[in-house]
Amino acid sequence: MINLFVPYITIFILTLQGGLLAQNNLSQKLYDNYSKFKFESLENKRFSHSDLMTALKQFEKSKLIEISTAGYSVEGREIKLIKIGSGKTNIMAWSQMHGDESTATMALLDFFNFLETENESSPLIKEMLKKITLYIIPMLNPDGTERFTRRNEIDIDLNRDALRLQFPESKILKKIQEETNPKFSFNLHDQSTRYTVGNSYKVATISFLAPAFNYEKDINEVRENSMKLISQLTKNLEEFIPGHIAKYSDEFEPRAFGDNFVKWGSSLVLIESGGWKNNYEKSFLRKLNFIALVSGFESIANESYKNESIDIYNNIPENQKRLFDLLLRNVTIEKNNQTYIVDLGINQNEVSTSDKRNFYFSGEIDDIGDLSTFYGFEELDCNGLTIDTALVYPTIFENYNSVKNFDISKILANGYSFIEVDSLNLTERFSEVPINLILTGKFKKQNISIGKNANFRLLKDGVLKFICVNGFLFDVNSEKNNIQNGLVY
Ligand SMILES: [Zn+2]
Repeated sequence: MINLFVPYITIFILTLQGGLLAQNNLSQKLYDNYSKFKFESLENKRFSHSDLMTALKQFEKSKLIEISTAGYSVEGREIKLIKIGSGKTNIMAWSQMHGDESTATMALLDFFNFLETENESSPLIKEMLKKITLYIIPMLNPDGTERFTRRNEIDIDLNRDALRLQFPESKILKKIQEETNPKFSFNLHDQSTRYTVGNSYKVATISFLAPAFNYEKDINEVRENSMKLISQLTKNLEEFIPGHIAKYSDEFEPRAFGDNFVKWGSSLVLIESGGWKNNYEKSFLRKLNFIALVSGFESIANESYKNESIDIYNNIPENQKRLFDLLLRNVTIEKNNQTYIVDLGINQNEVSTSDKRNFYFSGEIDDIGDLSTFYGFEELDCNGLTIDTALVYPTIFENYNSVKNFDISKILANGYSFIEVDSLNLTERFSEVPINLILTGKFKKQNISIGKNANFRLLKDGVLKFICVNGFLFDVNSEKNNIQNGLVY
């Protein structure tokens, strides 16, 4: 009797493990070999619609990728539809419904490049594309992308147009949903880079959501399958970013596409790319997106998500906003002849250049007070340090070029955050030199208060230790310079 049972049990366990191992192995392989698959010609996250059109041209002759026109935006920009595979399970995916959320579009290009690099001779791709058909819209909101803004040309958040369906971009999404009736769908976004995983200090690098389809947040089979797939993706990505996966708020939003897709019978997975220290162009987040997409498509193709428990999904902590780019703890501040101990939360906000294809930083004081329940990407314990206002360098410069040709580190090391310049004919409001520039005679005392640019000095018993220029620290002793750019006042 025993001899008869053992082989049966062994085979069952091996089969089950085989399915699970395959997903882990696949993610690891994608991670290790990513440089082979990455679509190298797109590195700047603020690429334009025409950059995407140029990129897609490279796949025109592909045997696996079918490119067509899905329609046109309000301003007449072409929105592409990419069809891949011939299987009976339809899957939809779209990115950049919000124009300034481009991480997943870059990951989709990596996916197309992966298909081309591995090509149809790869058993994985062959098997996968026999079972699924993908309908992908990379960049649903090209007009927003052109301005690098969230909303479309009419200033509408397309993710609140799922009921009225007034705008061409929303109509395209709905039309393809009706035509293909996707069993699964992927709604691809970027979220704040400063969310944490629950109450932890860890930044939410990827956040998932299986959206609710009613206010009661009921779980039907459609939503349960979203949860199971997310459980699997969470296990896959946890290997690379342990503790950095969160859940987006599951409050029902009747006007949003994700929530309506679930209502319309599609198991939708929302992927939000969040933050990672100093990953300004989001290249690491893009890589994680790529792994989530490929392993997600593979899981749907071989139905391995069905073996997952929704408990993993349910136990993912929610997004919380508990991070600053720079947190200064225990700073001594003097106000009205009294001294207080406060923390300063500083954010280095990205501001678009006028052509929208680049950005600079504007560092602002976001909060002051007891911030002991918050964290910083960068933190400094300022115990014993007193904050004082920023200073302007006493020598006046002729123009921007003369500043550029000067050794600024000496000026910074002497505690100056500003330089006066006689003529400033810059088209942008920032200086590549790590110091703030201001027209001669225009300098005024810089208040240390919420909403103001973060420019100040930190002193110990009257001796200068650090200066802050545009929200970035400069260590006077080591001359360690974190300043990305100054501002032009
Ligand atoms: Zn978004």
